[in-house]
Amino acid sequence: MNRIGSHLLAATFRGFGIDAEVMENDKGLDLGMEYTSGKECYPCQITTGNILYYMKKEQERLGASFKPEKYIYFMPEADGPCRFGMYNKYQRIVLDSIDNLDRLKIGSLSTDDGYSLNGLIEDEKVRDLRKTSYFSVVVADILDRLLWRIRPYEKEPGSTDDLIENSMHVMEDVFVKYGSQNEFEKILDTLEEVVRKGKEIVDPDIPPKPLIGMVGEIYLRTQVNANQDVIRVLERYGAEVVNASIAEWVNYTTYDELRDAKIGFRMNLKQFRLKPLREYLKNALNFGVELFYQQSKQKQVYKRVRALIDLAEDHQVAHLEKTLKEQDLFSFDVGTEACLSIPGIVEYAREGYNGVVNVYPFTCMPSTLTSAIVKPLMNKLRIPYLDTPYDSSFQPGREAAIRTFMYQAHQHFERNGRKDLSVH
Ligand code: SF4
Repeated sequence: MNRIGSHLLAATFRGFGIDAEVMENDKGLDLGMEYTSGKECYPCQITTGNILYYMKKEQERLGASFKPEKYIYFMPEADGPCRFGMYNKYQRIVLDSIDNLDRLKIGSLSTDDGYSLNGLIEDEKVRDLRKTSYFSVVVADILDRLLWRIRPYEKEPGSTDDLIENSMHVMEDVFVKYGSQNEFEKILDTLEEVVRKGKEIVDPDIPPKPLIGMVGEIYLRTQVNANQDVIRVLERYGAEVVNASIAEWVNYTTYDELRDAKIGFRMNLKQFRLKPLREYLKNALNFGVELFYQQSKQKQVYKRVRALIDLAEDHQVAHLEKTLKEQDLFSFDVGTEACLSIPGIVEYAREGYNGVVNVYPFTCMPSTLTSAIVKPLMNKLRIPYLDTPYDSSFQPGREAAIRTFMYQAHQHFERNGRKDLSVH
């Protein structure tokens, strides 16, 4: 998850009485590399290292009273088809191989049930926790989008980063206070104040800049340490960036469950198999209601915020699937992040963005697929496109590639203008 999202989700958990905190994310890589073979995906190395580093620090802090069984390491997972489904299993093997840490639990939420949160808390509170957790994801997306929207136009260098950092902590307190009662209006009132302060930072004399759309693997594109702060580097060469959101992924997992349920229902209807038919119908209704709730909540937040500032809205997942089908580019039957990245790029191109960047871990399967499908398409449309695969090494030519890409984006901007997101 994105950093702000992790903090707001942890705050939400605390509001529900779960003692949660966000682990440091930039110190565990050496440990992660020590306990992996090098064949794993980069996010697996980082997250494995983060757990080990955190536990080591806790052990040093608490000494003899350190009890690993009192901790649950929490990470969402997916059921593949890429290696994401194997992370927590691999991490379990690593933890079991280390003295004491076999007692550390991993609380993994799966896309299998649309990140249901069941089992984390008493049954009667699960629904409220789920609602506020989703809300925290959307609010965190807004804070990130606000950062990327105003930082390229700030009067004082550093003022946007300061505002967003402070606001994240303010929003944490608000989520602790109001989250457990689902008092979303109060949370939104505070969010509006943050947006108003953000608008004051903008220098109206700075003209609009080329607009760059970003897609890619969810961990890499949201973790600035892992992606070597690629958005800031793009901004240094004159970009304004819109990155794909986290809520889009959450909506996708719910949409995919609904889609599976509908397919299962149709197949069993043809064969008139009543028992599975009922099961699929129940799932379709549950996930349908869930998706409707998520998307309407997301719309509500964006509506309030966009009345103050024109942040980019999210694509609807159903629309993205339609885009894929129209051009026969890929299928939701295959799954993975490519289902969002490929049509997301097509939509950026249609909407008048001046360039697209695909950010991903080196050898990432869905992102490599995305690149193979989208690169020729972008060449045909004459829209600048850049792949930025990352691992733990620093590539000497990376900055030059970004600079060249931004040169092309500037030219595209001069020829075609850009999608209007002006805050002036
Ligand atoms: S999405 Fe990419 S990085 Fe993540 S597990 Fe799958 S292949 Fe690995």
